[in-house]
Amino acid sequence: MTETNRSHLSALARSAEDGMVAYFSMEIAIRPDMPTYSGGLGVLAGDTLRSAADLGLRMVATTLVHRKGYFQQHLDGEGNQTDSSQPWSPEEKLVAEEPIVTVTVEGRSVAIRAWRFDVHGVTGHTVPIYMLDTDLEQNDPEDRNLTDQLYGGDGNYRLRQETVLGLGGPKMLAALGYDPAVYHMNEGHAALLTVAVLEQHLEGRTLATATERDFAAVRERCVFTTHTPVPAGHDRFSMEQAHRILGEECATLLERAGACHDGLLNMTYIALRFSRFVNGVAMQHGKVSRAMFPDYKITAITNGVHAATWTSAAFQAVFDRHMPRWRQDNVTLRYAIDIPENEVAEAHGAGKKLLMDAVRELAGTELRKDVFTIGFARRAATYKRADLFFHDPERLVKMAEQFGGLQILYSGKAHPADQPGKAKIKHVIELAHEYSSDKLKIVYLENYAWKLGALLTGGVDLWLNTPKRPYEASGTSGMKAALNGVPSLSILDGWWIEGWIEGVTGWAIEDREDEAGEAASLYEHLEQTILPLYYQRPEQWQQIMRSAIALNGSFFNTQRMIEQYIVNAYYPESLVDCSAETLEPILSK
Ligand SMILES: *Cc1c(COP(=O)(O)O)cnc(C)c1O
Repeated sequence: MTETNRSHLSALARSAEDGMVAYFSMEIAIRPDMPTYSGGLGVLAGDTLRSAADLGLRMVATTLVHRKGYFQQHLDGEGNQTDSSQPWSPEEKLVAEEPIVTVTVEGRSVAIRAWRFDVHGVTGHTVPIYMLDTDLEQNDPEDRNLTDQLYGGDGNYRLRQETVLGLGGPKMLAALGYDPAVYHMNEGHAALLTVAVLEQHLEGRTLATATERDFAAVRERCVFTTHTPVPAGHDRFSMEQAHRILGEECATLLERAGACHDGLLNMTYIALRFSRFVNGVAMQHGKVSRAMFPDYKITAITNGVHAATWTSAAFQAVFDRHMPRWRQDNVTLRYAIDIPENEVAEAHGAGKKLLMDAVRELAGTELRKDVFTIGFARRAATYKRADLFFHDPERLVKMAEQFGGLQILYSGKAHPADQPGKAKIKHVIELAHEYSSDKLKIVYLENYAWKLGALLTGGVDLWLNTPKRPYEASGTSGMKAALNGVPSLSILDGWWIEGWIEGVTGWAIEDREDEAGEAASLYEHLEQTILPLYYQRPEQWQQIMRSAIALNGSFFNTQRMIEQYIVNAYYPESLVDCSAETLEPILSK
């Protein structure tokens, strides 16, 4: 047995002896028919829990129930986005738990109950998810809607929600009989849990009496993953909001602990102050985070995706035939390198047909299975630069004519308050109207979500990603594509820096001085390498598809990721020494 294997086993044994990991996330993509997530962060959380269940890790998760979901996107003919809510009923899908706990929000007592959903792993192990709900009769009407809308409302609403999650979550877990050994904060939204853990540790003493030693005890139990590579992206609130909503005692404690920055309560600083382990979500994002927070030790654990969830049915069948243990042991996807080319081509063809059928149904557009098809789908945040591909539309038209056709599928929602993001969508749709022809087909699919994401990453021929560096912390949709044998053409940002082998797993758009230069690099790759390969040397193309699975599918999965959390973050051989003497005091900062 290898060293790594042994340490993973002993780490899992420690989870059995030493207690559970409590995973906190504002959003979790649990099932396609439950709108409890907005995008990458929630999908990652769901995939993490699915892999934890597969591995048999003792883990429990906490989130909010989000009765009105995130939002449904509607696009009119001109590309204007309008939004509606996505009400759903936890009563129909979840188990109601007995305990009611209360937290104080803005001076009012708010009662919270929990709904349970069990994630079942491939080995039969279960990871429960508790979804907090304040829609109880005894609550004030305005508190009853606190767990309704994911990322809805204003700053006041968000801080109240984060109070329910952070202060209410640990209380609920205790009421349900859990005593977690480790608390994992998936992004700063859950950072207030550190205050709840401190309160539990103080056993009735007030927060005002907390000492350096008490802070150290909290730190010993907390682990934090940051996801945001720009300072403005970190969750912040005014000190007036902090004092009003959290109350004097809590706000004063956070000030004393140095969790305020530039005169604002900063959720990232709370989490940094009270965690013994902090990581970014890809190698480069670790570096960017260290530069942003130079006073902290920040490492990197690269994201992944849950392999079985994001592999198309046709490829699942191929993997089951060739690597029958791939669901239990994702590393065996490395042996995809031995799958015959024709089986790869056939499985991809099945995925492509499903996608074309869906496009016909959703958009009324007839696409061709024998035409090269590019996919671009992600949140319509401006840094993702959805329109970079159209920098020189005439060149695209020419390319499509020269090679016998080009099809491009777009999808993505802008947050309802994100006007520049909505403008990007409108721009892409206008360009699609202007330049679509017999040879060049451009389709924007409405309402990007789980199922559409799976269809697109399982059915296109190339996955395109054009973020502005270094804004893509990781990105995970290209990992889903890789599992389905779809190579990427991408800016070297996020995970792609690690996943890119030129001409083997995909291609890199060169880092050039401006957008025109980067677009030119994109076109050069298509004209000189990608389209000739696809249309003229299909066997070589199939070999690239296969190496995308073998090299990237076997690594960029949440099973490898959670194993790294187990050995480095949850149960390192010897806990980082967190005693008050060895840590730089929190109070003096
Ligand atoms: C995978 C996924 C994402 C994340 O994709 P990125 O590459 O990180 O942008 C977002 N939304 C949905 C619906 C997904 O399935």
